[in-house]
Amino acid sequence: MSHYFSKSYEESREKFLALLDTVKQYYPSARTMTHTIGDGTIDVIIGEPPGSREAMLLMTIGEHGIEGYAGAAVTHQFVEEQLKHVRHESTGVCFIHAVNPWGMKHFRRVNEHNVDLNRNYVIDRESLPRNVNKEYEVMRHMFVPDGVIDDYHEAREHIYSFLGSGIKLDGFDAMTAAKGMGQYQFPKGVYYGGEADEPSAIFIKEVQYDLLDRYDRIVHMDWHTALGPTNEVTMVVSERDGRDAETLKQTYGLKNAKTFDPSDVLGDSTNHFYYVRDTQFPDKQLVSALFEFGTFGTSTKASIREFLTIILENRLYFEGTKDPTARNEIQKEFMAMFYPDDAQWRESVLREGATTIEHVLKAESLWRES
Ligand SMILES: [Zn+2]
Repeated sequence: MSHYFSKSYEESREKFLALLDTVKQYYPSARTMTHTIGDGTIDVIIGEPPGSREAMLLMTIGEHGIEGYAGAAVTHQFVEEQLKHVRHESTGVCFIHAVNPWGMKHFRRVNEHNVDLNRNYVIDRESLPRNVNKEYEVMRHMFVPDGVIDDYHEAREHIYSFLGSGIKLDGFDAMTAAKGMGQYQFPKGVYYGGEADEPSAIFIKEVQYDLLDRYDRIVHMDWHTALGPTNEVTMVVSERDGRDAETLKQTYGLKNAKTFDPSDVLGDSTNHFYYVRDTQFPDKQLVSALFEFGTFGTSTKASIREFLTIILENRLYFEGTKDPTARNEIQKEFMAMFYPDDAQWRESVLREGATTIEHVLKAESLWRES
């Protein structure tokens, strides 16, 4: 199992590129493409059917940097164990490694511009909310890293006091809102969606247009971590898809599925995929979804732990610390949230990942029976 989970971006990239040989067994004309982003690269393996281009299976990983390690493991396992079941004669495959290479390399969620890429695919920038922080002073403590961390426990307690006391300060509500909507006001803050389209988003949008243009049907699985029940997978789909959560669960044989309203969740890349389909290619079929491997869980306590973790990690990154315990503890907690070094979790990623892919491909008739 362990060979699927890499310890560095470089190791993950090398293993990914080496998958080309296996892909070629089924798609002799398969090739890799490398797209430079900053000082890293987005790498693509694409295999196209020799005959009619009916369907395309697209898998993307690492939109949220550090979350890409689990996605890379699932993709690697898929190519080795499951690719043989795909209907190669009519279905293409496209695997994209490290949409956010800098984040993956540095074990951060955001990219080199502190942008949460899944809040960057804004369809109408004019309509962005600029007044998320009605109570600026309160929200500033949540979103903006305010000074070097002198003492780990003190810093935690301070943030807790803003998150915990919903009566007066509403820090928890503000964080919950920002997690969904992104925030477009504090460039050094958490959940920042960016001022303009990031290079990674520009590249992925080109892929969305290209595949919709050339294929009748696209199934897109975008791998993430953290959200949803611990050690389980949750499918997350924009309401633009048109199906409700119950229908998704039944169709794909999943325990967990949820939909989101694109007016509450801004800048999501899968929603943008549907937007391109709806506006440019209305006769094409598309399923584009996030698949999340849960870590902390779904309780309020888990949400507070999650907010505390990302606020402290952001502050550590921008301001540093004088307390050596702080660096260790913050990084440990961040890893536990997005890439746990936990055998049970990693086994569940591989098991649930494989089952989910099989169910989705069968439901979409991309899986060869027998
Ligand atoms: Zn994510």
